[in-house]
Order: sequence, then structure tokens, then C-alpha cells
Amino acid sequence: MWKNEKATTEQLHQATGVPIDTIEQFLKQERLRIRSFVNLTYRCERCGRGIREARICLHCAHEFKQAFQPEKRAEPAAAAGIGFRSRM
Ligand SMILES: [Zn+2]
Repeated sequence: MWKNEKATTEQLHQATGVPIDTIEQFLKQERLRIRSFVNLTYRCERCGRGIREARICLHCAHEFKQAFQPEKRAEPAAAAGIGFRSRM
């Protein structure tokens, strides 16, 4: 196939005629060895920025994490890694 390890998803698309959607599917399914193609990315399923791992970018992953966490107060105890407050 193609051997340009610096190819971006876009370049790969132009070189092979394979639709970008299809390339992205391959990347997501890890049929392509993405690690050896440094510029191949697919889109974050949430914001669309280029990513190479998981289904969403780190930024969105962070936001999701925050969304699922109970609201934190700026208490020193929170830093101890204990999720429960002893006093109610
Ligand atoms: Zn994102």
C-alpha cells in the first residue's frame, strides 16, 4: 500500500482515494498500525479535533470526568484521596 509514515489522514486519503471516514474507521479499529504513522489522526467524537487514541480527545475526556464527579470543595481533606466526608 503506502509507506509514507509522515502522511496525514488527509494525505492518505488523497494518495489512496480511500474516504477519510473509512480511514478513520480503520484507525479506530486499530487495523492500521497507527503508532508507526505519526500524523494519522481521526476526529474526536465530541469536538472533532484530531486524536490518535481512544474515542475522544484528552480535553473532552477531562470534561467528561469532571461531569461525572461530584462537585468538589476546596477542602484539604480532598487532597488525601478519600472520597467521603466524615462529617455531614
Ligand atoms: Zn474532543
